[in-house]
Amino acid sequence: MAEEAIYNDDISINNQWDEICSQLKMEFGETAFDSWLKPLSVSSFDNGVMSICAPTAFMKNWVIAHYSERIHRIWERKNPEIKEVQFVVQNLSAGQTAGNLHGDNSLIKKIKLSPTPQGIYGLNTVANNYADCDSYSSKLNPAFTFENFVVGKTNEFAYAAARKVAESKNVSFNPLFLYSGVGLGKTHLMHAIAQYIKNSDPKRTVVYISAEQFLYKFVNALRYKDTDAFKEQFRSVDVLMIDDVQFLANKTKTQDEFFYTFTSLIESGKQIILSADKSPTDLDGIENRLKSRLNSGLVADIMPTDFDLRLGILHKKAEQMGIILPENVAEFLAQKISSSIRELEGSLKRIAAHSLLLSSGNEITLDMTQDILKDMLRSIDRKTTIDEIQKKVAEYFNISVKEMQSSRRARNVARPRQIAMYLAKQLTSRSLPEIGRKFDRDHTTVMHAVRKVEELIVEDTSMAESIDDLRHALEC
Ligand code: ADP
Ligand code: MG
Repeated sequence: MAEEAIYNDDISINNQWDEICSQLKMEFGETAFDSWLKPLSVSSFDNGVMSICAPTAFMKNWVIAHYSERIHRIWERKNPEIKEVQFVVQNLSAGQTAGNLHGDNSLIKKIKLSPTPQGIYGLNTVANNYADCDSYSSKLNPAFTFENFVVGKTNEFAYAAARKVAESKNVSFNPLFLYSGVGLGKTHLMHAIAQYIKNSDPKRTVVYISAEQFLYKFVNALRYKDTDAFKEQFRSVDVLMIDDVQFLANKTKTQDEFFYTFTSLIESGKQIILSADKSPTDLDGIENRLKSRLNSGLVADIMPTDFDLRLGILHKKAEQMGIILPENVAEFLAQKISSSIRELEGSLKRIAAHSLLLSSGNEITLDMTQDILKDMLRSIDRKTTIDEIQKKVAEYFNISVKEMQSSRRARNVARPRQIAMYLAKQLTSRSLPEIGRKFDRDHTTVMHAVRKVEELIVEDTSMAESIDDLRHALEC
């Protein structure tokens, strides 16, 4: 994930890695992610074996001990071709390929590592893979069109705004800022706008780029002392689209450059469309002046999907894949897989692959679905959220969730709060600061609560039983 890395590998593998990284970041928290997972990069994929590079042996061992199982599980789910994930130490000496690192070149596909001017070897993220050679824009996914976007209550506003911007000959809302959690359709809508404009008015220059690529190109321009060309490229477009703006957090220089590009385009009446995982106001690490610019047009969010939308999407995707999806299977999937559309789609692809390759009659049944997805369903069933924990614990002790999150220190409120913090640590993969935020406290308070409850469990059997009851209720 090194932002300055240069390397070419298979697009889909890099995309999958990026998605996995976003998920790991959510699961383990930003601090753990930045320390241990961000420095990792994809090395090679061959014969079902995925190799991931760590910069040092210590880091490699740490990742194996703490994160490898999870990485393997998520990846396997995304790509059933992956049978094994192995970790290797990245060798930085010139001229070596990742294959050399394993001592057995025949096992791992040789990959091209191109040296940067500083002689650093690394692996590309989305950046190079998506970049067209002769322009700053990225390739667009032809499937991400308005026609293929299923509209429901939770995304109709964002969809309408996107369509309006795409169809208007003149600048309408500027900037259009789309935001949502992962896998809910931001990139799909951005590509749909770009393709619509390119088709309907080929004279307009549209640049679509992820914020990560923008950053990468800017860093390169600085390195090659080529910032004039960089500025020129970005300031001469008719429509500038930057996806996942949250990647610019704390990158002050790139934010400055972006700010000037932004201002210059808006002043000359050019359309800007942006996306992020949070609203401009809630974005962390973005300068205030930039935030206020981001807020100055139309801000549209895509909310988490509801059952009907998930059902609609499943039917649409099944039709596109050419499979017949029985209603009871569709309802089962729409009920169970509610986190992101990407996961929903992934599950459908797995079922489709099985039904096409393995089952004789091609018929999809509920039994077969449950069997194919059993690992995925198990992990979904086990996923307890802090919100649920707060609710269940509050109910159990007859207080309200509001009281639990309040600053009250009375024992009848403080104790349940500590128990909820303890269970959140035990039953979720959230970090201490993340848990703390849910209770409006800092991570030291959570740490203290966890210790306190551990003591209580030893000292007080009735307390231990209550906690056991709660744990049981939450895990079922
Ligand atoms: P985000 O950028 O918000 O993380 P994406 O745009 O990459 O999410 O969407 C993830 C996947 O879900 C893509 O394959 C996309 O086509 C699909 N998807 C998202 N929303 C919809 C929708 N409303 N209708 C059809 N497919 C959708
Ligand atoms: Mg996206």
